[in-house]
Amino acid sequence: MTNLAANLVASAQRHGDRPAVRLDEHVLSYAQLHASAAAVAGDLRERGISPGDRVGLVLPNVPAFPILFYGALLAGATVVPMNPLLKAREVEFYLRDSQMSLVYGWDGGGDAVPDAAAEVGIPGVVVGALGPNELGGTPITEPVERTDSDTAVLLYTSGTTGKPKGAELTHHNLASNAKMAVETLFELTPDDVVMGCLPLFHVFGLTCALNTSVLVGACLTLLPRFDPAKALQIVPRDEVTIFEGVPTMYAAMLNHPDAGTADMSSLRTCATGGSAMPVEVLRGFESKFDCHVLEGYGLSETSPVASFNQPGYERKPGSIGLPVRGCEMKVVDLDGNEVGLDEPGEIVIRGENVMKGYWGRPDATAEAIKDGWFHTGDIATKDSDGYYFIVDRKKDLIIRGGYNVYPREVEEVLYEHPAVAEAAVIGVKHADLGEEIGAAVSLKPGQDATEDELREFVKARIAAYKYPREIWLVPELPKGPTGKILRREVKEMPREA
Ligand code: AMP
Repeated sequence: MTNLAANLVASAQRHGDRPAVRLDEHVLSYAQLHASAAAVAGDLRERGISPGDRVGLVLPNVPAFPILFYGALLAGATVVPMNPLLKAREVEFYLRDSQMSLVYGWDGGGDAVPDAAAEVGIPGVVVGALGPNELGGTPITEPVERTDSDTAVLLYTSGTTGKPKGAELTHHNLASNAKMAVETLFELTPDDVVMGCLPLFHVFGLTCALNTSVLVGACLTLLPRFDPAKALQIVPRDEVTIFEGVPTMYAAMLNHPDAGTADMSSLRTCATGGSAMPVEVLRGFESKFDCHVLEGYGLSETSPVASFNQPGYERKPGSIGLPVRGCEMKVVDLDGNEVGLDEPGEIVIRGENVMKGYWGRPDATAEAIKDGWFHTGDIATKDSDGYYFIVDRKKDLIIRGGYNVYPREVEEVLYEHPAVAEAAVIGVKHADLGEEIGAAVSLKPGQDATEDELREFVKARIAAYKYPREIWLVPELPKGPTGKILRREVKEMPREA
């Protein structure tokens, strides 16, 4: 494999008439997707874009995204996907940091992209949701030659600390992760219909929804912005067979008033990752919709999939499963030595999915990748069967009066309460203890519970130093672009003492 875009060319040859991308009534076949991407590639060359140049994409999940993504790859460019909710000054940061040559926005996206592009002095090209119209140049139908170690995508991530850094994911990183997911996790075929509700600008949606579908010639049905009611309609409408989402998406669908009547019988495999899947939500979704939900784990820096509860192996709810094909994992202490079974330590990862490094940041790269092992900043244990269990992120650890409390464990207990929809546990500054345990909780529609009742519920089920002394009921918890709950922002929410 020399260019990830070769997968699109192959699917257009083999499955040209089959649906590639769908947005409600708009359907693009593989032949059409390839032709549109080839036209974009020709246009980029005409505009002077050379292989290796950075091209930005600031779009939601609309058909223009896969057209431009694969178009830029066909031309040999490095794609820099960005969140379409960014403001101009944020976009500007990415344009400058990646030394971008051209950036695409969409016509529903306001002025952020044109403004940022003008500020930096590069072309800001605004296209319609269904793709660009007027294109110059001669289409490029065969991918421009790239090597396995050339960067295909520069994916910005906050990583464990600091300002966003661009993870350089190579053609081989992304192609091998998609191939592994197709063959060993989703067992995808051209007859599958994949739900595209994870943002494609994030690595989970990009690899597991878009690149896997294109690799086999499956249909990707897009949802520009996640909405549980819409997701519950699209599954039966398009006979979706593969659903992929972050845990909050599963919780929102499960707790939605339409969940009782939605026909979800077409679902074959559901996959989750991106943050911890509360066991109660997993079991609730499986029993309501009669399907299996497999949890996996990964990061932007690992393209993303590193471990999974894989078909054909025992499934352990609450676990992130076993390392995937082509990927090794270890749990290590501060000195990098492997810890014993069931002992917590940091997950480190080595394999064909691990990024080349952070763009223009050799210092950050050297800190993250030591002796070939990528340090994730995630704390986990490994059991005697080789399954990994995430304890929490290193930086989310709460230290209460000298005792370590990992928020996730406390959140799992809150989720066991029948009225709880979502929960986030955080450390709150405390004069004597250093930190005290606090929890922000949102309730399921039509359910009632008082703060005292919730506190007593957790207190009865967990060691005394771990239960939240302060609980705040909130209408909704702050979430990131993929739907992950942001504990950092929960800390900044106004609350009563
Ligand atoms: P990102 O780079 O945005 O994909 O975020 C990666 C981070 O998401 C990891 O470092 C983990 O902290 C978290 N994460 C991913 N999958 C899981 C999972 N299954 N359980 C808990 N945390 C997860």
